[in-house]
Amino acid sequence: MGKEVEINNFSYYKNNLYCEEVKVERIAGKIGTPFYLYSRDCLCSHYKRFKKAFSPLSPLICYSLKANSNPVLLKILKSLGAGADIVSLGELFLALKAGIPPEKIVFAGVGKSEEEIREAVKRNIYLFNAESTSELRLINKIAAQLKKKINCNLRVNPQIQTKTHRYIATGEKGSKFGMDWEEIKKILKNKNSFPWVNILGFHLHLGSQITSPEVYQTAIKKILNLTQKEKIKLSLLDLGSGFPIIYEKKVSPIENFAAAIIPLLKGLKIKIIFEPGRYIVGNSAILVTRVLYLKKDFVIVDAGLNDLIRPCLYGAYHKIIPLKKISGKRFLTNIVGPICESGDFLGKNRRLPLSLKEGDFLAIKDTGAYGFSMSSNYNCRLKLPEILVSKNRYKIIRKREKYEELIYR
Ligand code: PLP
Repeated sequence: MGKEVEINNFSYYKNNLYCEEVKVERIAGKIGTPFYLYSRDCLCSHYKRFKKAFSPLSPLICYSLKANSNPVLLKILKSLGAGADIVSLGELFLALKAGIPPEKIVFAGVGKSEEEIREAVKRNIYLFNAESTSELRLINKIAAQLKKKINCNLRVNPQIQTKTHRYIATGEKGSKFGMDWEEIKKILKNKNSFPWVNILGFHLHLGSQITSPEVYQTAIKKILNLTQKEKIKLSLLDLGSGFPIIYEKKVSPIENFAAAIIPLLKGLKIKIIFEPGRYIVGNSAILVTRVLYLKKDFVIVDAGLNDLIRPCLYGAYHKIIPLKKISGKRFLTNIVGPICESGDFLGKNRRLPLSLKEGDFLAIKDTGAYGFSMSSNYNCRLKLPEILVSKNRYKIIRKREKYEELIYR
């Protein structure tokens, strides 16, 4: 329990960075930069480790597509048994295309449109995580029109301190997500007004990159206490996600989160769902970029905030390392992109080898989650290719966008 083993498929061999058994520089030379590079083994190992950690609860694991929805990665996760947590029709389309069965698909989000709800009901998804009374009313209306009874959880905002970045905290007072307990009670009291909805239980997503297992304990205890007090029959609990990965500092391993959560739920005969995104895919990719210019306090590279917005948006930290390991003196610098925004940085105050030259390659680590999926065409730049390595082979799993696609998309 609690072992600190980091799953790492990106390491130096004879001073060259490898992804599994492939020299990263070889791919950079072939396809040009920038690009996202994934390790299949890293992805699968994280999924399996998560599944094993929580196995005493036999949960349904619905991988959260918003972290990364590359169709090839989805197919791999599907083959391991993953379901899907979706927030849009685009994600529903991709989940179904990957072969994920509808009975393993759950739909979250504060602003589901009528079209989205209708389509998802038609496709027989397993569950809606409803975020307001108005939304529940609309789900009920659509289900009645289509004559299909539909499963719903009520998303509770437990109003607790989650100790993560305020942009990715969702379970605190004042957040737009979920409902407070008063609203939940009212819905349950008026259950008969929603005859086409099976209210099975609650949804509880506290935020992302939550580093403290105690936060989960506080939230779960709070919900179980309230449920007991109101004598509510709870048959399903979707605990969302928020499980952290190592970016800069070490974090508690997933086994510690499992050890904190499992004893609270084991034996209660409640079906459990998790919706991990970052934990599954975050460590499994690097963003490979090339140094364009060395200029005073800056290393200017060919990847920017349009490719990876996390540093600019959240001040997020990603390790940045050269593809060629060079020992010796280092210099302090800022690694920035080519975008016309002062917020376009990938790393501030970093130490890189003094001998770094224009044309050298760098790897921005742990960019598998909320990397490509949050990328844009800002400054009319093209979306990046994605490459998947498996042992000693690699394949392109998304081509670099073409300029024509800026017009005809
Ligand atoms: N479920 C819901 C409802 C979310 O909003 C998110 C992320 O925002 C996730 C799951 C995935 O979270 P994480 O990437 O922390 O695993």
